[in-house]
Amino acid sequence: MAASLTSLGIEENGNRSRLIDKYGRAITDLRVSVTDRCNYKCVYCRTGNDGAQYSELPIADYLRIARIFVELGIEKVRLTGGEPLLRRGLPDLIGELAKLRTAVDGEPLDLALTTNGHLLADMAQSLKDAGLTRVTVSMDAVDPDTFARITRVPGSFHKVREGIRAAQRAGLGPVKVNCVLLRGFNEDQIVPFAKFARDEGVIVRFIEFMPLEEDRLWTPASVIPVHELIARLSTFRSVVRLEANALSETAQRYTFDDGIGEIGIIAPVSQAFCGHCSRIRLTSDGKIRTCLFSQFDHDLYGRMVRGADDEEMAAFIRATVEKKEARHHIGEPDFLKPSRSMVHIGG
Ligand code: SAM
Repeated sequence: MAASLTSLGIEENGNRSRLIDKYGRAITDLRVSVTDRCNYKCVYCRTGNDGAQYSELPIADYLRIARIFVELGIEKVRLTGGEPLLRRGLPDLIGELAKLRTAVDGEPLDLALTTNGHLLADMAQSLKDAGLTRVTVSMDAVDPDTFARITRVPGSFHKVREGIRAAQRAGLGPVKVNCVLLRGFNEDQIVPFAKFARDEGVIVRFIEFMPLEEDRLWTPASVIPVHELIARLSTFRSVVRLEANALSETAQRYTFDDGIGEIGIIAPVSQAFCGHCSRIRLTSDGKIRTCLFSQFDHDLYGRMVRGADDEEMAAFIRATVEKKEARHHIGEPDFLKPSRSMVHIGG
């Protein structure tokens, strides 16, 4: 029995189904992009031209798709975009998503959100009340002028810092603050971010720049690798490694010699973690992406609008999980840029 279920990409774990790919990885983490619109034009992500085209599904359709995923074994849903706080109806979606796993096995769904934080100050409490568990805020500089140059939106830093504080007050913590580092661009922010983590009580996570941008900025030299980042942090205070919370955790965790402040380092380029990848993505137009660097979309929504029932959609999801790539090929001669940029995948 167990073998035949496994060959269908699904396993029983107690009462709970689990999606397993052909490399034996359990797929438990779904990222749902609820819009590909964004109110920032971060220079390392977007071209600066606002496309008139964007794609969003009705809230009820994201909910149906998410329910099928949760029934198949998804334990964590992260809402993203584009900028998810631009999406009308977001608190309603969160309220319904929060109930999904309880209906399957009585456990609460881990329901997180990644945002640029610009609109967070006014929304944090209502998102928490709707059932959001925690929030990650993207912020690539703590110097207000540098930040505005990156986002191309004046006054953005103070809005985001207020958003972070509102999220902390609302109980959406521990708030994680993600900073994408690019050489010659914001590397002077490393030590200021270490101080920010300590002063504001947030977990600051540095992320290596990946070739997912709309323009062609990425080169191997633009990435600041882990050993260099640690050396730079150590000029401020000695860093101390912390134990991982889970095997599939993407961040290496550090604190300082006085135990104050937590820093995460996410190094998909210099120390890839594909072997433990538990993620799958749904784009805002309802396509499944099995890897950030996939060359293909898998059109789940197309099946849905053509009238697929839940069982057909579940079968399509299982078959798609089977196709999940072993790893990315960043920096290798055979690397191909993915068929979508980050803003149209959902980070
Ligand atoms: N608008 C939301 C936000 O700002 O968090 C969600 C979408 S955004 C695409 C998600 C994350 O992807 C952000 O933390 C952003 O910094 C990151 N990101 C965008 N392009 C990236 C790249 N080329 N390499 C690494 N991270 C990138």
